[in-house]
Amino acid sequence: MAEAELMKEIERRRTFAIISHPDAGKTTLTEKLLLYGGAIHMAGSVKARKAARHAVSDWMEIEKQRGISVTSSVMQFQYQGYCINILDTPGHQDFSEDTYRTLVAADSAVMLLDGAKGVEAQTIKLFHVCRMRQIPIFTFINKMDRASKDPFSLMQELEDVLGIRSYPINWPIGTDGDFKGVYNRQLRQIELFYGDQSHGQAIVSSTRGTVDDPVFKELLGEPYYSRLVEEIELLDMAGDEFDLGKVLKGELTPVFFGSAMTNFGVGPFLEDFLKMAPPPGPRAFGEQIISPEDPNFTGFVFKIQANMNPNHRDRIAFMRICSGVFRRGMQVHHSGSEKPVRLAQPQQLMAQERESIEVAYPGDIIGLFDPGIFRISDTLSTTPGLTFTGIPSFPAEHFARVSAKDTMKRKQFLKGITQLAQEGAIQVYKQPDIGVEEFVVGAVGVLQFEVLEYRLKNEYSVDLKIQRLPHRHARWIVSSPAEPDQLNLTSSTMLVHDGRGNPVLLFENEWSVNWARDKNKGLELSDISP
Ligand code: GDP
Repeated sequence: MAEAELMKEIERRRTFAIISHPDAGKTTLTEKLLLYGGAIHMAGSVKARKAARHAVSDWMEIEKQRGISVTSSVMQFQYQGYCINILDTPGHQDFSEDTYRTLVAADSAVMLLDGAKGVEAQTIKLFHVCRMRQIPIFTFINKMDRASKDPFSLMQELEDVLGIRSYPINWPIGTDGDFKGVYNRQLRQIELFYGDQSHGQAIVSSTRGTVDDPVFKELLGEPYYSRLVEEIELLDMAGDEFDLGKVLKGELTPVFFGSAMTNFGVGPFLEDFLKMAPPPGPRAFGEQIISPEDPNFTGFVFKIQANMNPNHRDRIAFMRICSGVFRRGMQVHHSGSEKPVRLAQPQQLMAQERESIEVAYPGDIIGLFDPGIFRISDTLSTTPGLTFTGIPSFPAEHFARVSAKDTMKRKQFLKGITQLAQEGAIQVYKQPDIGVEEFVVGAVGVLQFEVLEYRLKNEYSVDLKIQRLPHRHARWIVSSPAEPDQLNLTSSTMLVHDGRGNPVLLFENEWSVNWARDKNKGLELSDISP
């Protein structure tokens, strides 16, 4: 495999996630990006696929009932020579941990806003994770076909609420139900869209021309033309300079306006976004920095999903490729077991269906059939001794005591709890002196308890007894002046052990955490697992 070939494949890859508050239009935009990429011929398939997935995967009933997206998936398509991987992230805040991990697998993010609502609660949370990772963030302001906030105040909101400067790449023409097109600032070009303002089942047609062209002046008519000219002047005078370096560091967000529903502005967004978004870059594996063009294959597992299809009881580990070339059947080192593993049945989750793959490159995400050996953060590589360190573990904020209602179901109960913990859906703790018939379970969001209950019943035939606990903070003991059970703690503080046997203290409030520190000199606590 020629080095040049690998370079070419890396260069044309764009792997990104769309982050947004629920209802901003993420499903619609994803669908339209696939439509533009020729991956689907009729918009509507993503939703149809969502529905079909529901049919085969009954634990997603919860998702259906609540109308929220619980799981992340991956879609790949080609557009103008680019190979695009979109990582879908669940929008509901209770699944944020899963979303965080997915963002680790992305090289950039598209932040989707509803033009009428601006920056919303979930946008803020997700934005901060992107900031933490310093990945480039591109903003798409959606629903411009309807009444929206003023574009200038939306830019101000980005700065005030998120603390990020913005640079509009294009500017909307015609607002409040009269969205006509966008103005491309770099090219000084107007693009007017044609077609119905309804559901944009097909790619919209448009005409482009310079802002100084009298034909366009006429075509646009008044008051649109004068208003546009005025706004362009204002932008050029008062706005930031465009600086790609700042964009790549996540300090400046390029802004696009459009309507995912009518497709107005989707094409221009996709084209400019792909030019600016970075291809896969180097990744840190502990002390080692691995470049994508490194000929040794390296990837890490960022998500595990079990029982996507209850007829098969399969478990899929999602791996992001970081370097080298992946080939089906290759043998790699596995950081979790320190044993060689043959990657025999890789799957790519294409726009329409899963497909078996032969070869894949850095930036690509592949699904591996998991016989139960993979865990989040596991590294698979032809180089031994590498461990991916980039996935943060988020402290649980909700806790419950769980056991099987029927004590005869102990074995299935244990199996189910263990699997869900390996998927990273829940965190499992054991209390000293209590056997495997009862665990303390921690979750980042409360909805995860419902998922736990539902999945244990449906996949393992176990009815759960769940007793919520008042604890809110988990702290690992980093160093201690005494045996953990000899510490001076408030009566409500609970001592448990995590899956690897590390001692953890569960506290009801910050006050108890401080008490523990004050009363036990030398006690060092951490909210991140060692
Ligand atoms: P998600 O929850 O972010 O995935 O949002 P959806 O894509 O499901 O969209 C939520 C609602 O907003 C749906 O009723 C969409 O039809 C609607 N919607 C999405 N994009 C647009 C848009 O550009 N304009 C208008 N008017 N509605 C939109």
